[in-house]
Amino acid sequence: RSPAKRYERSESEVTFADVAGLANAKRDLQEIAGYLKDPEHYRKLGAKIPRGILLMGPPGTGKTLMAKALAGESDAPFFSISGSEFIEMFVGVGASRVRDMFAEAKKEAPAIIFIDEIDSVGRARGTGLGGGHDEREQTLNQILGEMDGFDPQEAVVVIAATNRPDVLDAALLRPGRFDRKITLDLPDRPARRDILSIHTKNVPLHGEVDLERLAALTAGFAGADLENLINEAALLAGRQNRTAVDMDCLLQARDKVVLGGEREVIMGE
Ligand code: ATP
Repeated sequence: RSPAKRYERSESEVTFADVAGLANAKRDLQEIAGYLKDPEHYRKLGAKIPRGILLMGPPGTGKTLMAKALAGESDAPFFSISGSEFIEMFVGVGASRVRDMFAEAKKEAPAIIFIDEIDSVGRARGTGLGGGHDEREQTLNQILGEMDGFDPQEAVVVIAATNRPDVLDAALLRPGRFDRKITLDLPDRPARRDILSIHTKNVPLHGEVDLERLAALTAGFAGADLENLINEAALLAGRQNRTAVDMDCLLQARDKVVLGGEREVIMGE
């Protein structure tokens, strides 16, 4: 009867070992993973586990990756949906998708629900440019209603991600909703080095490659930028018929990512 059932369900293979840096976030989520692995144990202790977690941080800092790592660590199915998909929809479709997704997750509990770009439906109400906000509001109301309606026994954890926590409707942040906030910062130099190591695991590197130096030369890069840099360097090596990626390829790729980023900034906000 429901017109739409377009959320994703997957089993995650990602673990915390695939996430570099972000020690505080990992520690917080480790606790949730412990709960999802054995909710009964926590129930007997009368412990309440946070229901809604808000992951905040600039683009590409690993919000989706972290949510997937939590699912992988907990052996829990991962249901995901993106707030931005609701904007163009007919009124009611978003709300029914949210309803279906929560129902399915409860059936499969322990489970994780991930709502990416929550700000696109969760902007403070009444601040839009006028018109066309019914769908957004209905979807938001459905999310809030689902979270309020949780049975405390149900082991479903909802994770929402945003890079615009400043625009969120205060209703989302009330106790019992997304009341646990975790910030993912841009990686510092050691974390950048670790991210570069993770993403070069399957890339043949020339002996002279110094990832420590590359980490020092990539201040301000998010994890996604570093992943992109490695891939650009591998493509460049391929075009030049090399059998390994050398420092020269990596530095050229770095410049390319920097320029690409600047273009986005100029054309963006
Ligand atoms: P957006 O806000 O753009 O949705 P995001 O914060 O959800 O971004 P992800 O999609 O999780 O970021 O990150 C993109 C990719 O960058 C990841 O799949 C991963 O390969 C890499 N990456 C980002 N952060 C890290 C990290 N801390 N460790 C390892 N890889 C990372």
